[in-house]
Amino acid sequence: MPSIVVVGSVNADIVTRVAAPPLPGETVLADSMAVLPGGKGANQAVAAARLGADVWLVGAVGNGPFAETALLGLRVSGVHLDAVAEVDGSSGVALVTVAADGENSIVVVPGANSTVDADVVARHSRLLAEAGVVVVQAEIPVSGIEAAARAATGRVLLNLAPVVPLDPEVLALADPLVVNAGEARRLLDDAGRPVPDAPFAVVEGLLELGPRSVVLTMGAAGAVVAEPAADGGAPVVVPSPHVRAVDTTGAGDAFVGALAWRLLAGDTLADAARTAVRAGAYSVTTHGAQPSFPTADDVLPG
Ligand code: ADP
Repeated sequence: MPSIVVVGSVNADIVTRVAAPPLPGETVLADSMAVLPGGKGANQAVAAARLGADVWLVGAVGNGPFAETALLGLRVSGVHLDAVAEVDGSSGVALVTVAADGENSIVVVPGANSTVDADVVARHSRLLAEAGVVVVQAEIPVSGIEAAARAATGRVLLNLAPVVPLDPEVLALADPLVVNAGEARRLLDDAGRPVPDAPFAVVEGLLELGPRSVVLTMGAAGAVVAEPAADGGAPVVVPSPHVRAVDTTGAGDAFVGALAWRLLAGDTLADAARTAVRAGAYSVTTHGAQPSFPTADDVLPG
């Protein structure tokens, strides 16, 4: 059975809740603190597995106290962990501050994630070649991202979060490239291209960087999808359901996990995005990243 292979980061998230995030030089008192499993790779793997996909993760954790927390959600949701290495040193750790308005700011300590390079990824080339969809983000070394995309024979979902400089040949394998509005601006700016305000123009600009298709996520406004091979490239707006946001941590990861799940099932990119916006919206209605991800019943119509 075709599966999803996620190549990416596994973190322990130290989450503090505050009225408003500290300004530079300021100290604020938190209302609460929790240590939770996170990391974009782990989050996206959990999101897809909770929706019912068969998911493998290629990554690494440290041998210190945060590893078990980092792996907890993956274990519970049945993600295959045979390709997750244990290395000396710390696991990845994210320091997350969630403000009362639901917006978050994050500092990431890469830890073991920084060992997931081309050599480590190459050990799993058969797994990657057998995957129906390979999902990659950018919290691992660039050489690991590029090796994962090149080893894939199925569809490559490249979530360029955060934005890192990639070989244009690798960007050309992305089908789709998924970025949020801030990442899109950064990517266009780094490429020396104009940074338009209008979402359609942003998507056109991103397509010119060479990916096979593009998904731009826009928070509460949903997403814009463009798939030149399928429909002549006219971008499609996919609105998100209106919800009351209490915590946007992991919304993009819920979106990407759901998108991979639907693409594996054979949906068009636009249809996959129609389910993915529901997964993203669902995730912002409750606290945390992984605990807030939906099951299939929560996002499929009817
Ligand atoms: P990221 O978390 O990577 O910054 P976005 O903020 O664009 O990504 O969110 C990803 C998806 O999650 C959006 O496309 C949308 O479907 C959903 N989403 C995020 N925030 C909201 C919100 N406030 N209301 C409804 N849906 C949301």
